[in-house]
Amino acid sequence: MTSIDGETCVSLLAWMKEKVRKVVVLTHANPDGDALGASLGLNSVLRNAGFQSVVIFPTDFPSLVPGMKEFSNWIIFEQHERVCGQMLEEADLLFFLDFNDPKRIGKVKRKLDQLTKMIVLIDHHPQPMIETPFLFSDTTVSSTAELVYDFVVRMGWGHFLDAAGATALLTGIIADTASFSHNAKRPELYRAVAELIALGADQHKIQESLFNTNSADRLRLLGYALSEKMEIFPEYHAAMISLTREELKKFNYKIGDTEGFVNYPLAVKGIIFSAFFLENEEKIKISFRSKGGFAVNEFSSLHFGGGGHHNAAGGESKQSLKDALEKWITLLPQYSEILEKESLKEAEF
Ligand code: 5GP
Ligand code: MN
Repeated sequence: MTSIDGETCVSLLAWMKEKVRKVVVLTHANPDGDALGASLGLNSVLRNAGFQSVVIFPTDFPSLVPGMKEFSNWIIFEQHERVCGQMLEEADLLFFLDFNDPKRIGKVKRKLDQLTKMIVLIDHHPQPMIETPFLFSDTTVSSTAELVYDFVVRMGWGHFLDAAGATALLTGIIADTASFSHNAKRPELYRAVAELIALGADQHKIQESLFNTNSADRLRLLGYALSEKMEIFPEYHAAMISLTREELKKFNYKIGDTEGFVNYPLAVKGIIFSAFFLENEEKIKISFRSKGGFAVNEFSSLHFGGGGHHNAAGGESKQSLKDALEKWITLLPQYSEILEKESLKEAEF
């Protein structure tokens, strides 16, 4: 069981019955598989339940959910600011999915700051910074999509979940657990997955769509990143990959192409801390991953203005790529003790 609270559901349901017709589902910028799957899944349920619901994605995204094109009723804010602005103005209720900090919705925040709307937050990140009486936050679940599934059931909307909605939710779960390889210890997760499959979620199609739709350019960029750009710091059980703008250009980089690159160094025996630095147009986007007790969300929040989960976090730097890398390397000795300790624990497996 997740921490979706039945009483909160009852009061939300009553409130929605009385006051809500138009709904906007909102998720974070650069949406990943979980953000996409959770949003499209919930939106499909809300529409089947008779609400006029639409998903607003702050920025463009790769087509990770099978049948993405068949889901109508989603729109990209940065491409349709005026229409999206109007939708937000007219909404009776907003669902915030898969983020804990309003900073993560990019330019949508500026629009929302001008409005006063009731919000439902469904998320699995620690320390939600969004105030609402309808808060469904649980860091023990695999993904926001899993939490949405539980929310839908608790709201009594299970029968509004069709094959497309179930497929979207299972996509979120598989994406955020990397096919059940992490955050996937709870037996309840597998009960939810069984239900989603019974409803028609096609796990083969999901696997294909998430993992076997690489462009040749992306795979070549990955090969290059691993063979030429991965640096290992064995004494700190750490590794790092960085890519410059020129390198990205050489491989015809498209948004999302470097998704998951940060995980590869953790496959090296003994490595428990991985960092990936991407030189974007105006800043350096950084991803951190770890194994065990080393909290990368704290590391990122302290040093790179970011946050996220215990073992998966992100941040950014306005410095040059060279300086950002230097900063990260210089920080490692401060963490040598915990990195050593955690690497020994991991080695026990
Ligand atoms: P990724 O490395 O895949 O971009 O992000 C991993 C996780 O870190 C995401 O699920 C998200 O929760 C979090 N994250 C990524 N970038 C940021 C950021 O700039 N700020 C905060 N607070 N969290 C981030
Ligand atoms: Mn997520």
